[in-house]
Amino acid sequence: MIGEGQADVSRTLVLDGNAVGGLLQDIFEADMTASPTMCAHCGREGHIGNLLAFTHAPGVVLRCPGCEQVVLRIVVTPDATYLDARGAVFLRLKR
Ligand SMILES: [Zn+2]
Repeated sequence: MIGEGQADVSRTLVLDGNAVGGLLQDIFEADMTASPTMCAHCGREGHIGNLLAFTHAPGVVLRCPGCEQVVLRIVVTPDATYLDARGAVFLRLKR
């Protein structure tokens, strides 16, 4: 039963991309949660809001719900925001 409890805890730590919608809004000055993107690892297409969000790491990590590889990594420091988008084939910013 201890194992089940641990599984529940780890599941509650995983949010979806909508949880970081405010942070993305600050960076891109647009609502990115409904924006399409493509995983560079497995080619899965989906909305940023549907990515798995890990907010308990240093910074925010968004992972592909298909292959669980990192799509986006965001680190905010006192004087800058770092965006690592190597795991995304593209990000779409609506004009
Ligand atoms: Zn993937």
